[in-house]
Amino acid sequence: MSASRIRILEDGALEIVDPRWEDAELLRALDPGYEVRSEPLEGFTGPRFQSMRDFGCGYATAEIEPAPLDRLWAMHNYALDAWRRSEAAVCASGEQSILALKCEIARRLLRRCVLCARRCGVDRTAGDRGFCGLDAEAILAESFVHIGEEPPINPSHVISLAGCGLRCRFCQQSSLLFPEARSRTPLNRQTWETVDTGLARSISFLGGNPDESAPAILDFLHSAPSQFSLPVVWNSNAYSSPETLALLDGVVDVYLPDLKYADDACAKRWSNAEGYYQAAQGAIRTMTEQGVLVIVRILLLPGHLECCHLPALEFLARLPRLPLVSLRGQYSPDWRIADRDGRMASRLPAEELARAGAAVRALGLALIE
Ligand code: SF4
Repeated sequence: MSASRIRILEDGALEIVDPRWEDAELLRALDPGYEVRSEPLEGFTGPRFQSMRDFGCGYATAEIEPAPLDRLWAMHNYALDAWRRSEAAVCASGEQSILALKCEIARRLLRRCVLCARRCGVDRTAGDRGFCGLDAEAILAESFVHIGEEPPINPSHVISLAGCGLRCRFCQQSSLLFPEARSRTPLNRQTWETVDTGLARSISFLGGNPDESAPAILDFLHSAPSQFSLPVVWNSNAYSSPETLALLDGVVDVYLPDLKYADDACAKRWSNAEGYYQAAQGAIRTMTEQGVLVIVRILLLPGHLECCHLPALEFLARLPRLPLVSLRGQYSPDWRIADRDGRMASRLPAEELARAGAAVRALGLALIE
């Protein structure tokens, strides 16, 4: 797949963007104290999707296929409640699993797409494309072991997919924003052959953004080897729809949403997103309610402490179930950002990173460092 990306900073230092396993030696040469950080994922006993694949939903294919979407959601919600109460362990003969039912609902959502908060309503199964530019197929962009993720999930085998419902002007993966520009390598069961379970401690779906490709990801998980035992991480832009999050309930083991803005004018200006903050607040609240680890990642943007990052942290501190917080200070104005963009044309001042860290601690949130 693609090569490592190295950036030369203003002071001449080298920065490896999204370091992968093969970069560890170079990182140690640059910094002899470098180590791949990792720590146990507390409470993890096995990927939830595996039990979803074993647990019967109570209906056979002949009942599921002709059912209208609202009936499928009713079946889903009833089965999910039963799964939470663990009333049965295995599928009866002819019965479909909850994971198979989720796959069917996800495919239906493609017909009038509401897979992300953009809610375009196009029929992707007919080849129509909405804002993300995707049709029904998910396009695999990268598949490699990332060694710079947060310690509870690091190193992580990342499955990076093209297509995104946002258009961040500072995007560091801009080649993933336009699916048509990429060669079409679909995400499918053959992709499992690229997944390195020996080196990784988790598998992460990201992009672009994974929500837009949720139907293919669910199919991919449905085809997982039975011995696959790593936690599933969903690394999204938090511009999520309630429908997609309902499908991910019982499938995702760790949510890793990027909370970008707390000000809709900023979201509109920098990511061309309407109603970003309300959608992201609802999404993160739902993620925490699913009873799994949620790590909210915040890429600190220069000059956005007062309008976005501090209000966002205050929101997180008010949630009934507190997420962990990961502050990222590596913003780099390397795509479509020019001097006219003011503070966004430079890297993050150290003082803003320090103030954000102090705010996390003052609010009683746990910071992953
Ligand atoms: S995934 Fe989002 S951006 Fe793409 S078509 Fe569906 S609603 Fe639109």
